[in-house]
Amino acid sequence: MKTHTHPYLLTTILTVFFVASLACSNGDTVLGTDDNATGEVFNSTICCIDTVNDSSFTAEEIESLYFMAEEEKLARDVYIELFDTWGNKSFYNISKSEQQHVFAVTTLLEKANQSVPSTLTDLGVFENQELQNLYNELIEQGTASLVEALKVGALVEEVDIQDLDLLRETIVAHPSIDQVYLSLREGSENHLRAFVKNLGNQGVSYSPIILTEELYSEIISGN
Ligand code: ZN
Ligand code: ZN
Repeated sequence: MKTHTHPYLLTTILTVFFVASLACSNGDTVLGTDDNATGEVFNSTICCIDTVNDSSFTAEEIESLYFMAEEEKLARDVYIELFDTWGNKSFYNISKSEQQHVFAVTTLLEKANQSVPSTLTDLGVFENQELQNLYNELIEQGTASLVEALKVGALVEEVDIQDLDLLRETIVAHPSIDQVYLSLREGSENHLRAFVKNLGNQGVSYSPIILTEELYSEIISGN
């Protein structure tokens, strides 16, 4: 069991997240327009999927939603922990964006009258064992140094982009799910650029670990 340096801070952050989610479920739009150290701005365009009328998702699509809910939670939880460890504001800002990603996915599950992962409010706890193992490894790496933490951030975004591309290519046919996954991917691209820029500020040039050089260059040079 991991101990936190500032358990109160983490509780506060999580509380803020869930208040934001509640506001969102009432039909408001939660806008994430926080500057981080690099000056990047994160806008939420995915909150509140009120336009989903047809929620006749296939079993595979539902399975993908269930998985993505926990994968977005993994990003959120890793960044909360790394913010707690290093105090770098990028982690805080991006963790808020990840909470909106979790919410976008769980909203679709609820629209389809499906259960959401039971672990959503438990920091660092996952139903999916692969994600649990990945989380544990990333936290270990990210607590070694700030540079390693920022590399962890970039890696998480690479994993996210790869998984979203794979799901959109192989499983997802429903336009509502496809639209949400595309929005999550755009968010991931922003986040990847932010972490790479932060690494640059630390004098470190990041090379992709999962994505092809071609796709990585395309993302980094985009906006
Ligand atoms: Zn995300
Ligand atoms: Zn992200």
